[in-house]
Amino acid sequence: MQIAEKKVVTIDYTLKNAVGEVLDTSSGGDPLLYIHGASQIVPGLERALTGLSAGQSTDVVVEPADGYGARDPEGVFGVPRNAFPAEAKLEVGMSFVGEDEEGQAVPVRVVEVRDDVVIVDANHPLAGEKLFFHVDIRDVRDATLEELMHGHAHGPGGHSHD
Ligand code: ZN
Repeated sequence: MQIAEKKVVTIDYTLKNAVGEVLDTSSGGDPLLYIHGASQIVPGLERALTGLSAGQSTDVVVEPADGYGARDPEGVFGVPRNAFPAEAKLEVGMSFVGEDEEGQAVPVRVVEVRDDVVIVDANHPLAGEKLFFHVDIRDVRDATLEELMHGHAHGPGGHSHD
């Protein structure tokens, strides 16, 4: 069975950046299950896996535009220190959910803590990165109606409702 829309695909994967550092991997853990065509993995990877079958392996290079997008310099901005609770212990690398002008939740990471201002970055941590995936396709099956209605894969390695 080939990978196509509405198939549940089970993969093992390793994601590296341009200098070969491992950013993410399923090695040593559970494989990833996703519904193909449901935008659950980055677009460049989803496109590259289309038409492949269980047992195949592939190496995929994904440009930022087909991955987590370009880095937006305007995504880095300062928040007054007094916007945080006085007792909050702020450290570089910690993340929290802020709000934009329209009241939308925006996850941000702290990149610098000064006396009066905290510099945060709303870019995805992998924005602007070229992504290097190695993927082993373990299984391809039809999604059940229930999975399609829920928008996620069920079963071992997938979503559990227990
Ligand atoms: Zn479900």
